[in-house]
Amino acid sequence: MNRYIFGDVTLELIEGDITKQPDIEAIANAANAQLYAGGGVDGAIHRAAGTGLEKEAHPLGPLKPGEAVITGGHHLPNNYVIHCLGPVYDRDIPHDLYLANCYENAMRICEERGIQSIAFPAISTGVFGYPVEEAAPVALKAVMDAMPSLKSLRTIRMVLFSHYAHQVFGNALEKLI
Ligand code: ADP
Repeated sequence: MNRYIFGDVTLELIEGDITKQPDIEAIANAANAQLYAGGGVDGAIHRAAGTGLEKEAHPLGPLKPGEAVITGGHHLPNNYVIHCLGPVYDRDIPHDLYLANCYENAMRICEERGIQSIAFPAISTGVFGYPVEEAAPVALKAVMDAMPSLKSLRTIRMVLFSHYAHQVFGNALEKLI
């Protein structure tokens, strides 16, 4: 299952690179607390955006787990980056609550700004150690629970970096529907 539609809101699951989503207005970043350019998906986003992204983002920190802030997209093909601090799986308990908060806060910011499309990576499932099998249902449920009340967002795209992660999200979506 790669797509779920509620009213005129679509949740899509794709395998791909979050820095290559030119049809999307805002991309979410799995940031670090200080909003410095780091590794993983954060490194890819900062490399594609250029050094202006860190200059704008760092003064908005530090973030606590589950929080999100917005910046411009700089040299990315997207107007905005929404920087989320995911939970460290073994440390930030309850990790499922903090992970859901990331998605909820990012979508809230989109609603406040009138943003119509957002793409998310699988927050916390890299260096932060959240098993993707556990993160997928938490992420999808947070999005699906919000869908009926969204006024501005019309497209929510989960961009999974591996074939495996894409499969896991697809299976989780099937179970949730
Ligand atoms: P965290 O610190 O939140 O765990 P990571 O960047 O280490 O963040 O990993 C989060 C997820 O992002 C991982 O599943 C990783 O495979 C994925 N990822 C890495 N690079 C990209 C990219 N360019 N686009 C989308 N997802 C990516």
